[in-house]
Amino acid sequence: MPDKIESEVKSSKIILAQGDITKQTTEAIVNAANSLLRGGGGVDGAIHRAGGPKIMEECRKIGGCPAGEAVITTGGNLKAKYVIHTVGPIWKGGNAREEETLTRAYQNSLALASRKGIRTLSFPSISTGAYGYPLQEASKVALNTIGNYLKGHPEIEKVVVVLFSDQDFHIYQETLKEIGLR
Ligand code: ADP
Repeated sequence: MPDKIESEVKSSKIILAQGDITKQTTEAIVNAANSLLRGGGGVDGAIHRAGGPKIMEECRKIGGCPAGEAVITTGGNLKAKYVIHTVGPIWKGGNAREEETLTRAYQNSLALASRKGIRTLSFPSISTGAYGYPLQEASKVALNTIGNYLKGHPEIEKVVVVLFSDQDFHIYQETLKEIGLR
C-alpha cells in the first residue's frame, strides 16, 4: 500500500497553525511580498515590523521579484533565521494564469529552501488578502503544491501553514481532509 504510506508521510510534515507567522520558530518564514519588495500591508508589513530594518535593506539590494518567483533574506530580529519573499498573483477572475503563478510561488519558495539547506519553514496563505485570490481555491493550490513537493524532497522536514483568521484556518483544515493529506 505505497499510497497510504506516502500520504501518512506527507500529512505528518504539513502542519496547519492559526496565528501570527512572525512568531514562528521554523528556520524560515515565507513572506507574501509585492514585486518591488517594498513592504506594504498585511503579512508583509507584519514581517518587516517584527523583523526590523535589516530585512528591508537586503530587499532593496535585491531590487525586486517577479510574480511566481522567490528570493531570500536573513530574518533580522525574527526568531526565523531567514525570510523567503515570494510574490503571488493578483486575482483577476481566474483566466490570467493565477493558479499557475500561485503554484510556482509555493514551488519556488520550497526549492529555495532546499537549496539553502533549510529544513523547516512556514507559509502564510499567499495571495488571499489584498491580492484577492478566493480562499478555498487558494487552499487547494497551496496544500496540493506543498504535498507534491514533499513527496520528492525528503530534505524538507516540516512545513507549517499559518492562517491568520479562524475562518481561514477551518477552510484549510477542510481542504487538507478533502485532498487526503489528513
Ligand atoms: P497578498 O497580497 O499576497 O494577498 P496579504 O498579506 O494581503 O497578502 O494576505 C495574505 C494572507 O496573510 C491573508 O490571509 C492575511 O489574513 C494573512 N496575514 C496577515 N497578517 C498575517 C500574519 N501576521 N501572520 C500570518 N498571516 C497573516
